[in-house]
Amino acid sequence: MDAEGRLSVGGCLLSELAHRFGTPLYVLDELSLRSSCRAYREALERHYPGPALALYASKANSSLAITALVASEGLGLDAVSAGELLTAIEGGMPPERIVLHGNNKSSEELALALQHGVTVVVDNWRDVELLTELARGRPGPVPLMLRFTPGIECHTHEYIRTGHLDSKFGFDPDQLEEVLTHLATCRWAQVRGLHAHIGSQIFELEPHRDLAGVLADALQLARRLGHNVTDLNVGGGLGIRYVESDDPPSIDSWVQVVAEAVAAACRERELELPRLLCEPGRSLVAPAGVTLYELGSRKQIPGFSTYLAVDGGMSDNPRPITYQSSYTACLADRPGAAAVETVTLAGKHCESGDVLLRELPLPASKPGDVLVVLATGAYNASMGSNYNRIPRPATVLVGDGRAELVQRRERPDELLRYDVLPERLRSVG
Ligand SMILES: *Cc1c(COP(=O)(O)O)cnc(C)c1O
Repeated sequence: MDAEGRLSVGGCLLSELAHRFGTPLYVLDELSLRSSCRAYREALERHYPGPALALYASKANSSLAITALVASEGLGLDAVSAGELLTAIEGGMPPERIVLHGNNKSSEELALALQHGVTVVVDNWRDVELLTELARGRPGPVPLMLRFTPGIECHTHEYIRTGHLDSKFGFDPDQLEEVLTHLATCRWAQVRGLHAHIGSQIFELEPHRDLAGVLADALQLARRLGHNVTDLNVGGGLGIRYVESDDPPSIDSWVQVVAEAVAAACRERELELPRLLCEPGRSLVAPAGVTLYELGSRKQIPGFSTYLAVDGGMSDNPRPITYQSSYTACLADRPGAAAVETVTLAGKHCESGDVLLRELPLPASKPGDVLVVLATGAYNASMGSNYNRIPRPATVLVGDGRAELVQRRERPDELLRYDVLPERLRSVG
């Protein structure tokens, strides 16, 4: 905050950023992102007695600038598509620190991974089939990890739960022995790691502790079947604080629980300590981002709600309409002013469900005022859309009082780029 009580991030006044770059605007705080990367790195060093690496789950927010930042902090990266993979490679992430996930990878995506020497996370038999074909005639083995469903329940929204047995991701634990036995006969395959991920926005530590035992059992099995498995990948999932009542563990406590549980589970089974991998997405980038909007129209329904509309909504932040997610918001220039009304903060899209926040206490405001929604760095830009043909916002990276454009705003005319109008439909009417 400055002397007049106006909010700033990275030394930049938010209302000034809004006027300079337009709204809606994603603002990313470089220091916050770097600090989270360091928190993972240092916690892994502190709590795990062997080698370790955090991989950024880039589906949370994929861009060249974010890739370059996390690469410079020494992290690796998860990609799930050719687009995320190309962004990682172009952003300077060393291919040996990239892994390709996905429950239905295309042959093209797998070929791209092989071409760059990226580790492939084998999710199902279809992956094995496609890789067997692609690996034919290639020099050297293909580095692989094997994903399985650990059969662990946790409390989070059902759409972002992945650890329970009835999940589309990974091999069923009963199939592990069969697939590992098969891969042991494939000369092209080098199974380096095992992977499981239990879900996202999780506040409990217990499921992660349980996961260590399940992974260590799988490690024991894989080594018994002749695979030189060196990596154990526990996935991501640590939740963050969106609203005051959210109380997630710190990065350090999460890593401590995971690292100690993996080390203990390996010790119990007398297994040589593997390299520990984890894949944070949300907890790395969500707290580093805020979104700026301009306030517009107001509809007051006596006895009911007051709707206050912003110049964005579900196309730049689909989480409230998808997961009923909550956020914290305030006016950029009067964050501390006393509330005079409670509003429903609506987006501008043609959906009644396009509401960013319900029951938001706000001080007096007028059209043109800049509103800030906090903790929007993850699963906003990356899940956004062009619904209603609304252009995607720009992203600026801030730090040390500097603001740099790292993703430019789309223009409405650019949205017509991929339309093709057949000749016979031209000049009709
Ligand atoms: C989504 C995902 C992550 C990241 O999850 P967060 O909750 O954002 O940390 C990590 N690994 C896999 C396989 C995922 O699908």
